[in-house]
Amino acid sequence: MAAGQDPHALEARDLYRFYRAGEEETLALRGVSLTVGRGEVVAVAGPSGAGKSTLVACLAGLEEPDGGVVLIGGERISHRPEADRARARARRIGVLLQSANLIGHLDVRANIRLAQHAARGGAGPQAGELLEDVGLSHRSRALPSQLAGGELARAALAVALANDPDILLADEPTGELDGQSEQQVLDRLRARAEAGGGVLLVTHSRQVMNIADRVLALRDGRIQP
Ligand code: ADP
Ligand code: MG
Repeated sequence: MAAGQDPHALEARDLYRFYRAGEEETLALRGVSLTVGRGEVVAVAGPSGAGKSTLVACLAGLEEPDGGVVLIGGERISHRPEADRARARARRIGVLLQSANLIGHLDVRANIRLAQHAARGGAGPQAGELLEDVGLSHRSRALPSQLAGGELARAALAVALANDPDILLADEPTGELDGQSEQQVLDRLRARAEAGGGVLLVTHSRQVMNIADRVLALRDGRIQP
């Protein structure tokens, strides 16, 4: 696990995000603050439209918040030049999206290596270890299109963990899985936290909330008290 002085794997302070479409303005995030400790699983639950995906995008540095600050392992990733942000993102953050984060023409092992290449200088585990960890050693040469749903989700998880990130961010990671595959992925996420990593999940699944140490309720862009 990446060592650091900062006790938080992730800290967000007062995040705002507006979307403008013509005359219409949507306030997707209205002052969201949260922390995820090392070794902690935090779930953010909320109905459709609450701002969950926007929150993950801002925490992951994929979108720039209009206000507020995001720190990963104590390092600020918001409001920095894109090249810096990309480097910090590759090294420190694993992202697991509902539409798997895999490149279609690369096999599973090559997808892991690509993620590691993006984080030049990161000291992630070997591809073989990662695949063994998610139970996919026998599928390392398979293309994403050749994988079943549960295998695909676990391959995406191996890629998200390729650089031993401070924080793993997951947007409805098991939304399209059957119960058994969902449980396999959740077991891996729980194990990740036991090993000292931070995990933040956004979800509306009860099964997902069950593995969390804390559940935050997000509604209309605000964490409910
Ligand atoms: P959730 O993931 O909880 O369903 P989202 O973060 O996707 O919620 O969306 C929050 C709000 O922001 C919604 O009202 C949605 O319509 C709006 N929104 C999200 N992305 C965009 C965008 N790119 N442009 C305009 N509005 C958006
Ligand atoms: Mg969403």
